[in-house]
Amino acid sequence: MKRLKRKIFFKKRKFNSLGDLLEKICEGCKKWKSSKEFNENKKVMDGYDDYCKDCLSQGGMENRNNSIGIWINKKGF
Ligand SMILES: [Zn+2]
Repeated sequence: MKRLKRKIFFKKRKFNSLGDLLEKICEGCKKWKSSKEFNENKKVMDGYDDYCKDCLSQGGMENRNNSIGIWINKKGF
């Protein structure tokens, strides 16, 4: 399983000779985009979000995260 995931990881990304990310496929719109189109995210292996800035600004992910946060707060109080 781990080896398969690694294969997919490199299939969806392009790196330069220094190992910096040049391009990757956005999980939202499934298009190749330059690393500049993604927000930096240190939790992700390549250092960038899986969703491009366009997809994030359209709502999807951010709204979902916010609603989870609100839900946790309601539960907590
Ligand atoms: Zn996108």
